[in-house]
Amino acid sequence: MDYNLTTEEELIKKVAKEFSESVIAPLQEEIHANNEVPGEVLEGMAELGLFGINAPEDLGGGGASFVSFVSAIEEIAVVSAGVGMIMSVNNMGHTLINFLGNDEQRKKYIPKLVAGEELASFAFTEPSTGSDPKQLQVTAVEDGDFFVLNGTKRFITNSNLKGPMIIVAKEESSSPMSGKATAFVIDKHCEGYSLSEPWDKVGVHGGPLFDVYLKDVRIPKENMLGDSGNGMYVLKMTMVFAKVGVCGICLGVARAAYEEAVAYAKEKTHRGEAIIKKFEHVRMALTEMEMIYNRAKWVTYHYAWALDGNIGDPFVLAKLAAQAKVEASEAAVDIVRKAMGVLGSYGCVSDYKLSRLWGDAIVGPQVEGCAATLKVMAGNISYLA
Ligand SMILES: Cc1cc2nc3c(=O)[nH]c(=O)nc-3n(C[C@H](O)[C@H](O)[C@H](O)COP(=O)(O)OP(=O)(O)OC[C@H]3O[C@@H](n4cnc5c(N)ncnc54)[C@H](O)[C@@H]3O)c2cc1C
Repeated sequence: MDYNLTTEEELIKKVAKEFSESVIAPLQEEIHANNEVPGEVLEGMAELGLFGINAPEDLGGGGASFVSFVSAIEEIAVVSAGVGMIMSVNNMGHTLINFLGNDEQRKKYIPKLVAGEELASFAFTEPSTGSDPKQLQVTAVEDGDFFVLNGTKRFITNSNLKGPMIIVAKEESSSPMSGKATAFVIDKHCEGYSLSEPWDKVGVHGGPLFDVYLKDVRIPKENMLGDSGNGMYVLKMTMVFAKVGVCGICLGVARAAYEEAVAYAKEKTHRGEAIIKKFEHVRMALTEMEMIYNRAKWVTYHYAWALDGNIGDPFVLAKLAAQAKVEASEAAVDIVRKAMGVLGSYGCVSDYKLSRLWGDAIVGPQVEGCAATLKVMAGNISYLA
C-alpha cells in the first residue's frame, strides 16, 4: 500500500476541507443547536460533487477512490459529524445499489444520489434488533406483482429526506411462509410511509434520525435488490461498504478533539507560562492522542485502500471493515476523553466545542454494529471460517 495520497485524492480532500471551513464552520453552532443542516450546506456539497466521490463516472459520480471519500468525509466531520453522517449514509446507499442492483436500478437511483438531488437511507435496525436478520419483524408479503411491507424500522438516518431507502425485511410468500430476509428499494414518503418525531440524541446533531412506520406499503417486485432471501448477503456487503463513512467521521471527531486540546494547551497559562510548555504530562497526553489518531487513521485508510479493488475477498473486506470501525470509533472516544483531561472543566461546558465532540464520539461505537458484535464477527471470519 502506498501511504501517499495521489494528486486527485489530495485535491478532493482539499475541496472538502475548504468547503467545511468556509461554509459549514460558521454554521456549526446552529446545526448543533437546531439539530438540522441548512439547505445551503447540502446544496454546496452537491455542487462540489461530494455526494458521489467514489460512484461510477458513467452514472454521474466522480469515479474516484474510497481513499478519496474517506479523506473528504473526515474533513467534513472535523467540523460537523452530523453533516458527515448524511454524507456517509448517502454514500452507503449508492454504493450498495451499484453493487447489488441491476442496471435499471442503477440508472434509476444512482445519478440523483450522486448529484445530491436525492439522499439515500438504509433501513435495517428495528426495535427488536440492530444486527440480526433472523430477528427482523418488518414483513414483505408477496401479492401478485407486488410486495406489501408492514412494520417499524428504528433509528433511520436521512429518512426524512427525499430519495430511495434500501430496506431489509422478512419476506413471507403467501404460502408457505418462508421468513427469509430480503432487500428492497422503496421511495421514501410513498403511500403508507410515515415518521416518528426525530430522536433527540446525545451527539451527531444534524444527522436526522427517525423511526419509520410502514403501513401496507406496496412496491413492485422489480424493486427487490438482488435475490430473494439475500438479506444476509446484503448485510455482509453493507458491513463491507458502509463502515468506511463512519470510520471517516470518527477520525474527524478525533482530530477535532486533538486540535481543540492543542489550541487550549497553547492558550491556557499557569503562572504566566502556557501549559503546553509548563507541564510534561500535557505534552504526553497530546502525543498519546496523536498516536491513537494515527493508528486509527492507517487502519481506516488500509480498509479504504482494500475497497479500491486491492482486496477482493468479501470476508476479508468485512473483517477489515469491522476492525477499522472498532479502532476508529474507540480512538475518537479515547482522544476526546484525553482532551477533556487537558481542558478540565472547560471541556464540560457548552461554550467549548469539546463538550459537543464528547456527544459525537460516544455515538460512534454504537452505530453500524456495536464493538462486541464486530469483534465476534471478525473473530469468526479469522478463526471459524
Ligand atoms: C446516530 C445513529 C444513526 C443510525 N443510523 C441507522 C441507519 O441509518 N439505519 C439503520 O438500520 N440503523 C441505524 N442506526 C442503528 C444502529 O446501527 C444500531 O443501533 C446498531 O447497529 C446496534 O443495534 P442495536 O442497538 O439494536 O443493538 P443489537 O445489535 O441488538 O445489540 C445489543 C447488544 O447485544 C450485543 N450483541 C448483539 N448481537 C451480538 C452478537 N452477535 N455477538 C455479540 N454481541 C452481540 C451488542 O454488542 C449490544 O451490546 C443508527 C444509530 C445511531 C445512534
